Amino acid sequence: MRFAFTPEQEVFRQEVRAFLARELPKDQPENPEAEGQWVNRAFSKKLAARGWIGLAWPKEHGGQGLGYIERFIYNDEMIHYRAPIGYHQSAERQMGPSIMLNGSDYQKKHYLPGIVKADLAICIGYSEPNAGSDLAGVQTTAVRDGDDFLINGEKTYTTNAHVAEYVWLATRTNPNVAKHKGISVFIVDLRSPGVDIQPLYTMAGTRFNIVRFNNVRVPRRELVGELDGGWYIVAQNLDFERSGIERVTGALLLFEDVVRYARETRRNGRFLYDNPVVRNRIADMSVAFAVGRQLAFRVAWMQSQGKVPNHEASISKGYGTELTQRAARLAMDIMGMYGPIQGEGRWTQLRGRVAYTFLVTVSETIRGGTSEIQRNIIATRGLRLPR
Ligand SMILES: Cc1cc2nc3c(=O)[nH]c(=O)nc-3n(C[C@H](O)[C@H](O)[C@H](O)COP(=O)(O)OP(=O)(O)OC[C@H]3O[C@@H](n4cnc5c(N)ncnc54)[C@H](O)[C@@H]3O)c2cc1C
Repeated sequence: MRFAFTPEQEVFRQEVRAFLARELPKDQPENPEAEGQWVNRAFSKKLAARGWIGLAWPKEHGGQGLGYIERFIYNDEMIHYRAPIGYHQSAERQMGPSIMLNGSDYQKKHYLPGIVKADLAICIGYSEPNAGSDLAGVQTTAVRDGDDFLINGEKTYTTNAHVAEYVWLATRTNPNVAKHKGISVFIVDLRSPGVDIQPLYTMAGTRFNIVRFNNVRVPRRELVGELDGGWYIVAQNLDFERSGIERVTGALLLFEDVVRYARETRRNGRFLYDNPVVRNRIADMSVAFAVGRQLAFRVAWMQSQGKVPNHEASISKGYGTELTQRAARLAMDIMGMYGPIQGEGRWTQLRGRVAYTFLVTVSETIRGGTSEIQRNIIATRGLRLPR
């Protein structure tokens, strides 16, 4: 077994890095997600022009036909340099592949080119006030009305609904069967009459939304896959969401800062790295990052082999998101009273990133399925334990 990228892949990494050095917005804020600049359509357009949105997609669907390992490298670099990829990220990562596997010819022709050109974004409409971990409890209804469906209900925590053109919506289409057998997925235009979008903010200042549907009319052609067959599409789509190196790389940035800080900072006359507790905890954390990268790499490798990751994605997501919290906690512990200070000022250290990361990583183990749900998946689908 050889743990290395090929020379061609290393060249590709340099190409992405050079692009970012040239094209990243010069006024990119320290915490783009909190500042609301994580979504930057002009930047997404530049990536699209380069052919890098959907770079691992087959050419027949508008992609580059490059591998998932290249996509891993590309995402690693994007996150490392805090590139604002929020406009296209979810559609590229999960809705595009879901449409390729389950969509109609119309949907493939209509949505896939739009995603790779950054002409349209699709957000995720699963969670509701009474359906989060248990998505089979979805209550938003889609009822047949002639050639259309009428949608009524409410979705919560919908990231990017205020900037996306469409929502990938889980709805109840049959209330008379087992809960998971009566769900259907629709792609709904968020500009339709009857859609109401209201903001919600996390404690880190990032925005998500409440989206209400009041008799929203959707043509039947927007139904993805079979009527009442949405459960499996949603599950597969979540596996795509749980894949990726983004979480580990995001936390690694902070960790590298903290290691540098321990090397350069004196407290009570001694460098922080002289403290054996600090040394041990940093060393332990570096092992955890190596593991997190390998777990994400395994998922990318599976995708490169044409496999759809399942419990492997849950292992990577669960470990990677808990790692982000452990890294933030470690940073807070090492920085002491300087850790929680935000904003610009004489006491601010590491540009206030520790406090922000500490707050924002709380939601990492919730969004995309909580850690408990990942463990349930690992236990049942991975280890074949009874439900
Ligand atoms: C920042 C952020 C962004 C988000 N973006 C989106 C989005 O774009 N689209 C979207 O649809 N949703 C989004 N979500 C919602 C997210 O997917 C849900 O919050 C999550 O699935 C948990 O659902 P819930 O909040 O209803 O909690 P609940 O399901 O009510 O869970 C509450 C607690 O009970 C535990 N629990 C529940 N069931 C079990 C079980 N069977 N076994 C063990 N423990 C269990 C959970 O782990 C959790 O700790 C986002 C959430 C956050 C925080």
